[in-house]
Amino acid sequence: MNVIEIDKQYVANTYARFPLQLVSGKGSYVYDETGKEYIDLGTGIAVNAFGVGDEAWKKAVVEQLDKIQHTSNLYYSEPCALLAKTLCQRTGMKKVFFSNSGAEANECAIKAARKYGECKKGKDFNTIVTLKNSFHGRTITTLSATGQDVFHQHFTPMTDGFVHAAANDMEELKTLVKTYKCCGVMIELVQGEGGVTALDKDYVKAVEKLAKEEDLLLLIDEVQTGNGRTGELYAFQAYGITPDVVTTAKGLGGGLPIGATMLGERAENLFTAGLNGSTFGGNPVACAGAQSILERIDEKLLAEVKEKSAYIFETLRNAKGVNRVTGMGLMIGIETEKDASEVINACMKRGVLVIKAKNKVRLLPALNIPFETLKKAIQIVKEEIEK
Ligand SMILES: *Cc1c(COP(=O)(O)O)cnc(C)c1O
Repeated sequence: MNVIEIDKQYVANTYARFPLQLVSGKGSYVYDETGKEYIDLGTGIAVNAFGVGDEAWKKAVVEQLDKIQHTSNLYYSEPCALLAKTLCQRTGMKKVFFSNSGAEANECAIKAARKYGECKKGKDFNTIVTLKNSFHGRTITTLSATGQDVFHQHFTPMTDGFVHAAANDMEELKTLVKTYKCCGVMIELVQGEGGVTALDKDYVKAVEKLAKEEDLLLLIDEVQTGNGRTGELYAFQAYGITPDVVTTAKGLGGGLPIGATMLGERAENLFTAGLNGSTFGGNPVACAGAQSILERIDEKLLAEVKEKSAYIFETLRNAKGVNRVTGMGLMIGIETEKDASEVINACMKRGVLVIKAKNKVRLLPALNIPFETLKKAIQIVKEEIEK
């Protein structure tokens, strides 16, 4: 049996995979088992922030592997402490809880909001408002937070305590906050899985103001938008807001699993010993790798992300067959006249990997993709959309 047959027989049937097996890569190039080359504009869903086989990240990971691969959270560990320090210093947040995925990072954010509600107003102030069309993860509670009914089917009862408002609709959000006993508001600033759409700046500012007035925690899900993806280290910095909790994962690990829940001033002391935990959370290898990723997301790199973003928007916005280009930085959605899947499959045949978000073609290239490589790939994407 080949790999595809073995996978189909033995791996749980939860993914509609492309008929493609990736075996190696370097930078923004990846290769299948026949040696065919692809320019990767998907980066394992915004995970391989610096592409494949990034030397600095590999060095950090291997050096840590040579020391100790895991310690448990019963003991102190330098990579974990230093990564928390870097995250706080670069965001203004105060403390970090480490886990292993975006969903877990959001679970911790939800716990923080509920604890806050209990402390400030009483135990029944436990409802969190999230947005329609959002995506917050696959655990039962983060699915409940996710404002898309398709994800709720088959798994009811969902966790209580989530209500959903339409994105950019301040009136609906206010009504929900007045109607329910709330403890927090949780939003993605650019809805990723929901179709790569950025929230309006005025709306986000108004949400921040409402959260302050109503004494609710403002939780920002930056699992996908974080770590340089939108042209700022974190997207909230582009919106000029001060969140109470920021979650991230995907690109932070550069390819290894990690989740981080950053707690601001109003949230930093909500957790005391025993109130949350994770066996693998803060793993020294994952943290050492993440540190090397963060160190290189500097002003120069962020300026390049913005330049590359502008190039993609300019090239595709008025192209034939393109209805709309949305998103921010190197997190881009293209609404095409053709079916998105048709474009994606045609690009794959021509050696360019792009992915989907709702009905859009989604681009999530490596932050450090060379301009020439990006141009070559975007030209092919454009041709396949125009055809
Ligand atoms: C991917 C994603 C998640 C879930 O992350 P996992 O690591 O798959 O648990 C949560 N929120 C957003 C915004 C995401 O893009």
